[in-house]
Amino acid sequence: MSTISTGRIYLVAAPSGAGKSSLVNALLATDPSIMLSISCTTRPMRPGEENGKHYHFISVDEYHRLRDSNNLLESAEVHGNFYGTPAQPVQRALQQGRDVLLEIDWQGARQVRKHFPEATGIFILPPSIEALEERLRKRGQDDDKVIARRLLAAGGEMAHVGEFQYAIINDDFDVALTQLQSIIQSSRLHTPAQAQRHAELFNQLGISAAATAA
Ligand code: 5GP
Repeated sequence: MSTISTGRIYLVAAPSGAGKSSLVNALLATDPSIMLSISCTTRPMRPGEENGKHYHFISVDEYHRLRDSNNLLESAEVHGNFYGTPAQPVQRALQQGRDVLLEIDWQGARQVRKHFPEATGIFILPPSIEALEERLRKRGQDDDKVIARRLLAAGGEMAHVGEFQYAIINDDFDVALTQLQSIIQSSRLHTPAQAQRHAELFNQLGISAAATAA
């Protein structure tokens, strides 16, 4: 049986405070085969964050240099700072057959879909607007002005949920995590992906490549 496979891209978006990073971290703990893309950002580091782990924290000049030399797969301005996905690690992982998860906003997701139309889009929603505000305050990492700006931006982000195939409501964490895992599992079973992953078997079963083309 062939083990050659091409990795998939998962685009995970959410308004700040919806619990996206906690869900993604829990997912990766149970499925280390997925590579998490580490974004570049020009925003200041928050307490508890590590350079190279949560983000590559870089200057605006460095950001422009990377973006202008086509080293970013996508780039967007979010809450007054620049964010972008380094292209090379993503391309390398996909070539190795690894799945890649991108935690990005709707603008970035749109750009990635242009390169990878088959990417799986997942949007995480809070159970209520009150819960969203409470989570932002509890995080205690941003001042009131930043929180107010993020709440305002949340509505703008959520207006794009329809551009993502899946919407998870993060009320009960364990339920939301199971739903996220289910989406990943089922997207891996799409027929074209299975045909590529198990090319020898499909061939042996007499299934032509044309019959499984996406
Ligand atoms: P935060 O500053 O709270 O970590 O992230 C703010 C927003 O930026 C979130 O919506 C997050 O998804 C988005 N973001 C993080 N990394 C990237 C990226 O590489 N590209 C884009 N387009 N958005 C990103």
